[in-house]
Amino acid sequence: MLPFARVAIIGMGLIGSSLARAVRAAMPSVQLVVSDADAAVRERVIQLGLADDVADGAGAAVVDADLVILCVPVGAMAAVAAEIAPELSPDTVVSDVGSVKESVARVLGEGLPGVHVIPAHPVAGTEKSGPDAGFASLFKGRWCIITPPPRADATMVERLAEFWRRLGAKVDLMDAAHHDRVLAVTSHLPHLIAYSIVGTASDLEAVTRGEVIKYSAGGFRDFTRIAASDPVMWRDVFLNNREAVLELLGRFTEDLVALQRAIRWGEGETLEALFTRTRAIRRSIIDEGQDTEKADFGR
Ligand code: NAP
Repeated sequence: MLPFARVAIIGMGLIGSSLARAVRAAMPSVQLVVSDADAAVRERVIQLGLADDVADGAGAAVVDADLVILCVPVGAMAAVAAEIAPELSPDTVVSDVGSVKESVARVLGEGLPGVHVIPAHPVAGTEKSGPDAGFASLFKGRWCIITPPPRADATMVERLAEFWRRLGAKVDLMDAAHHDRVLAVTSHLPHLIAYSIVGTASDLEAVTRGEVIKYSAGGFRDFTRIAASDPVMWRDVFLNNREAVLELLGRFTEDLVALQRAIRWGEGETLEALFTRTRAIRRSIIDEGQDTEKADFGR
């Protein structure tokens, strides 16, 4: 039996449109109704045939849905919650895919009393945005972290977990605050560093912009992929995971200063020991199937 028969997706960008494609491929009998604030996106979704119905507003899309998934930037969750609240029935599960979980859980919990709010985060994505960027296999073999609130209905949590498993994801359950600390390390800080390095390089005066682009294969280009990620989405991530990111940034800054000292004082052993340790981490990621050996990281 299908975990959910009628699914509504609000926000049809990279993640929402990937979800729609994945649901179509894995559970073709599910009734799929979607919406997006942007009329051009709605039009494109119709052209691509990604859903059974494309509603003009989020409220209309969620009527009679037994699962609603919000795929909008974290900062837009409260507005969407307000829009859909009057249309939901008490049995509806409302979930999301936001990259930050504690603030989203709070906003959805407050905005949607009386329905099953069960936030989640598929740890999968690319630097692209919009409905053309999505693809059905995005979640295959990737982790989806579900962060059930303390009094969540266990049956509904399991149904949501089963939904993600059917899309090919592996599911973990986690406390929302812990999720935010883990993702600050694995995703948020790396993005901040990439944004910072690419910004620094583009501001340099001694090296021309043409040279930065021309010789980018030396490492810079791998940072530019991450630094090309959606500006609105990432603005919201940093504004909503402030504490965890700031704490980690303090630690990172100290470690960077230690490296600065090692370079200044010619401490080659310190540098080599660190670089040997970090190479082993790359090996573990490949061994666990979360990336490939390919030089372009398989993307
Ligand atoms: P995206 O490609 O920019 O798509 C977001 C879509 O939501 C856009 O079409 C946007 O329309 C629409 N939207 C914004 N506010 C809305 C509202 N109030 N009502 C209805 N639609 C609205 O972004 P994305 O990469 O799919 O990210 C969506 C969510 O997934 C975010 O919460 C993000 O944190 C999470 N996530 C992203 C990744 C990733 O790698 N990208 C991975 C995991 C999770 P406009 O263009 O008009 O704003």
